[in-house]
Amino acid sequence: MANLNKTSGKALRAEVAGAGFAGLTAAIALRQNGWDVTLHEKDSELRAFGAGIYLWHNGLRVLEGVDALEDVLEGSHTPPTYETWMHNKSVSKETFNGLPWRVMTRSHLHNALVKRARDVGVNMRVNSEAVSADPEGRLTLNSGEVIEADLIVGADGVGSKVRDSIGFEQDRWVSTDGIIRLIVPRMKKELGDGEWDNTIDMWNFEPRVQRILYSPCNENELYLGLMAPAADPRGSKVPLDLEVWVEMFPFLEPCLAEAAKLETARYDKYATTKLDSWVRGKVALVGDSAHAMCPALAQGAGCAMVNAFSLAQDLAEQSSVEDALVSWEKRIRPITDNTQALSGEYAANRSLSKGNMFTTAALQAARYDPIRRVYSWPQ
Ligand SMILES: Cc1cc2nc3c(=O)[nH]c(=O)nc-3n(C[C@H](O)[C@H](O)[C@H](O)COP(=O)(O)OP(=O)(O)OC[C@H]3O[C@@H](n4cnc5c(N)ncnc54)[C@H](O)[C@@H]3O)c2cc1C
Repeated sequence: MANLNKTSGKALRAEVAGAGFAGLTAAIALRQNGWDVTLHEKDSELRAFGAGIYLWHNGLRVLEGVDALEDVLEGSHTPPTYETWMHNKSVSKETFNGLPWRVMTRSHLHNALVKRARDVGVNMRVNSEAVSADPEGRLTLNSGEVIEADLIVGADGVGSKVRDSIGFEQDRWVSTDGIIRLIVPRMKKELGDGEWDNTIDMWNFEPRVQRILYSPCNENELYLGLMAPAADPRGSKVPLDLEVWVEMFPFLEPCLAEAAKLETARYDKYATTKLDSWVRGKVALVGDSAHAMCPALAQGAGCAMVNAFSLAQDLAEQSSVEDALVSWEKRIRPITDNTQALSGEYAANRSLSKGNMFTTAALQAARYDPIRRVYSWPQ
């Protein structure tokens, strides 16, 4: 198949809106394939929002493909097991048959991708907000500037202006549960005896529904996700209502006391976005702009990165941008659709509380290898 950049004789130009995990991955992968790439971030600096993140085999393979894996592995952690507790008693310990997975802070992952984007020569513009795009390949910025390009990538998150300016048909809904996400110091010694290097998914249904996802990121940083229904005013309160959390998880008091000091803590519900299509002419949507999903299976960013990386692969193999985008969506979308649906079902039914729920179907996205384009796990 023809490589677009080789047949056209000059580098093709891509404008990418949004410097989250999706936009950064798309920008690096396109640049590696010879595109001239400009990445627009509406914020005044390039930084990650949120606390911690899980990446699985699929996302780690993307990092390998964009040459950022080493930087990410250094300073992140693979817990010995993913343990599930119900009412403070262990019900399962999962190791996923050796499937690679990793926990890290969001800033750690973001910094590694920004560094790689700089190294490969992505042109990065901050304070540069995309306000609209059109399928012929024009991106309009808040400054009024209109840029013509061979490809526009809308990686501008769940509230995407690129998407909404074009009028993709969409369903959007939010969850009944939400989460407060924080990074606190590890404090292993203060927690006393216990397997504190594990991920521990601690569920309680009585007397209230409260869950803590305890996730060590490295020797010094601990990611805490404190889940409670939005209808529970104390569980969803920020800054944290220390008493209500310590009552349910007394053994975590040292960490929770640190968490309660964080004035900037936010309680977020989970958004789901389902579109009729991810593609219109020369515009492709990647990441949460196309497929925001519930985080039960921890795959929103993983799928976003796979889809962004795969987009560059398809563009390298077709002779027109429009054809490449159509083939890309057809090829890659089913994995995301299945994962989004199952993750939504798991979140609605609080299924992870049963333990041993990372079934083969639940790990479909995680098992995918975007470099070899096969399910390469178990090997
Ligand atoms: C509670 C929770 C836990 C999660 N845990 C995991 C997990 O463990 N593993 C996992 O894989 N996924 C997880 N996810 C999902 C993951 O966070 C998202 O899917 C992922 O961050 C989406 O990345 P993105 O780049 O598409 O969007 P975003 O991260 O939203 O990035 C969008 C970027 O675009 C910028 N921007 C916005 N609008 C514009 C504009 N108009 N012009 C220019 N720039 C703009 C923003 O400032 C931002 O930098 C979780 C989600 C939630 C809610």
